[in-house]
Amino acid sequence: MRKDYNLAKRQYVIGGFIVIIAIIYVIRLFNLQVMEAKYKDSADSNAFLRKAVYPSRGIIYDRDGRLVVYNQPAYDVMIIPRDIREFDTIDFCNAVNITPGDLVRRMTDMRDKRRNPGWSPYSPQKLLSHLSSEEYGRLQEKLYRFPGFYIQKRILREYNYNCASNVLGNIREVAPADMEKDPYYMRGDYMGDIGVEHTYERFLRGVKGTEVLMRDALGRIQGRYEDGALDREAIAGKNIKLSLDIELQQYAESLMVNKKGAVVAIEPSTGEVLCLVTAPTYDPTLLVGRERGNNYNKLMQDLDKPLLNRAIQATYPPGSTFKPTQGLIYLQEGIITPSTPFPCYHGFILGRLKVGCHGHGSPLPLKPALQTSCNAYFCWGLRAMIDKKSKYGSVANAFEIWKNHMVAQGYGYKLGIDLPGEYRGFIPNVEYYNKRYGDGHWSATTVISIAIGQGEILATPLQIANLSATIANRGHY
Ligand SMILES: [Zn+2]
Repeated sequence: MRKDYNLAKRQYVIGGFIVIIAIIYVIRLFNLQVMEAKYKDSADSNAFLRKAVYPSRGIIYDRDGRLVVYNQPAYDVMIIPRDIREFDTIDFCNAVNITPGDLVRRMTDMRDKRRNPGWSPYSPQKLLSHLSSEEYGRLQEKLYRFPGFYIQKRILREYNYNCASNVLGNIREVAPADMEKDPYYMRGDYMGDIGVEHTYERFLRGVKGTEVLMRDALGRIQGRYEDGALDREAIAGKNIKLSLDIELQQYAESLMVNKKGAVVAIEPSTGEVLCLVTAPTYDPTLLVGRERGNNYNKLMQDLDKPLLNRAIQATYPPGSTFKPTQGLIYLQEGIITPSTPFPCYHGFILGRLKVGCHGHGSPLPLKPALQTSCNAYFCWGLRAMIDKKSKYGSVANAFEIWKNHMVAQGYGYKLGIDLPGEYRGFIPNVEYYNKRYGDGHWSATTVISIAIGQGEILATPLQIANLSATIANRGHY
């Protein structure tokens, strides 16, 4: 009796499992076939039209609230391939100033999945961008003659000051790679390129909205689907306030006209960059609108490299601007006191090694050595430190300590400015010299020119400016 009861119970349990599994299967099947089909329907079918609603991009202000970058409307011609009926191509081409050949080429490009990963005959596709106001007017007037075409309003940038191009960056149309990386973007969308526009893209761009429109059996738009139940409003991009003083920037750029180089000014108390100039530079409006591609190519090919942001992307031997770092290291390591003198007889002379210098009094302690930018002083200091085996045990140990002091002063690594593409410069380490000269086959005299910021040392103008800020802050940056 008891046995039978258990068996019956077990049957119920097994039966129950089977029922639950069956239910799970049914739900899953329903999801797969019914729900997804329905979803696909609403996304892709002729009954609905999803239109992107573009938010306004964030505005860029300088530190004093001066308007630097703002928006201007731009108009693109979009088509929904499925909705296109026969139309007068000549009439269309005349309205928007393109040739029939252009039109065919654009249509072919649009269908090319490699160029346009988002291609679908049911969804809006970009045909033409940046209509001039005349073209916009002409096309708007006769748009009813071109079923399947509509005009999409977008945002382009406008600049209040003709400067700071390399800091601000610009916006460009997304490339297929951008769309693959981030599905947020669709063909014809814009994104920040270089500069602040790139770094703060996610804040500036806001969030696109969608408008879901419904069609009747003949494909005519009947208005919003369920009174906008599926619409999503666009969320405007966030505004940005720069640390830059745009008038100081403009002034510094005016000083650099016809020169090559960079200017960086940092507010030591906060580390804010007040101006960051690279020269030669370019007019930011060159990279706005329909001529952007041509202008960009010209800038790319320009041998003076106006697109290079020399302030953060060019590295130079820092030369004499580097000498304070050496004085500080020697003091920190107890190699010198402020009154320790070193001789200079038109240079640093040791056996056959000579590093030249200009005429001035000798010997000199630290302050007048900095004042006269004495090469010999800093060479003697380096030698006194790197070759001091009694203190450090070996050249390698001493050099490692020297290098760590350099890194602590902001050299050899990126400082981390919020602009893309910063270079780290170069400070050699023990391995570097071991590889070059052989383990134990080099000493201070082998690498003496690094004491005066030459030899292998490379630094960005930003790093050099940062040194001044560090000194002004008595050691902090
Ligand atoms: Zn000297």
